[in-house]
Amino acid sequence: MVADIFRDNSWAWPSSWRDLFPAINQLDHIRPDQNKQDRLLWKDGDKLIDYSSATVWDTIRVREQEINWVSIVWFPQCIPRHAFLVWLIMRRKLLTRDKILKWDFSRRKNMNMMCCLLCYADVDSHDHLFFECKFSEQVWKSVRDKTDMVDVDPKWVSIIGWLMTRIRSKKASFYVARLLVGATAYTIWQERNARLFKNQTRPPEAICEVILKTVRYKLMGVKFKPCANVKSLLGKWGIDDAAMIDDGG
Ligand SMILES: [Zn+2]
Repeated sequence: MVADIFRDNSWAWPSSWRDLFPAINQLDHIRPDQNKQDRLLWKDGDKLIDYSSATVWDTIRVREQEINWVSIVWFPQCIPRHAFLVWLIMRRKLLTRDKILKWDFSRRKNMNMMCCLLCYADVDSHDHLFFECKFSEQVWKSVRDKTDMVDVDPKWVSIIGWLMTRIRSKKASFYVARLLVGATAYTIWQERNARLFKNQTRPPEAICEVILKTVRYKLMGVKFKPCANVKSLLGKWGIDDAAMIDDGG
């Protein structure tokens, strides 16, 4: 208690403390009201607020600007490994070859080292892989027909722009669209890595098949509110009530 150290109208610090903690000398002119209860306060800028670990954390934490695209990446019933990849793409954190070679000046002029292994015609970069590359574009154009995104350009910014305009939507079609974007990006990135590290290649048709199978399988396990829209949406994916029971849901 402050009253224990403030007696007879003066501070009763042990004398050695004045040398050890010179800051207490600054308190000499302060006369606490001994009739008041002690309170622990925290100064946040000009504001004095009641102390708690939560208020301290709130003052000292680094504040990033709130991102508005979070529910494009993370949403209920997403496929976590796909969501994680989409998050990396949104933050431009994938180690595409354009990035790696920026660090390695000696190889900078060697185009073979920069080349996209899906089309061999351009530089391996975020925008190129998702989905401006001829190979990725072909994949995207084949799979997007299963959603409402038939008119959306095969460009990451266009796809994200389209999703952003529907970000508050609760429609099953919006859920499927996000699922499909994640599955497509993930499978393209997997193919790119298989070519780079294992020298294994698959044609675009095989990639499309993997994407559609993955999304379809996921949809079979999701409980939707039964309605005509959902029925027709699932019908597009070859899922009817019988399929859901047969495949174990
Ligand atoms: Zn390419």
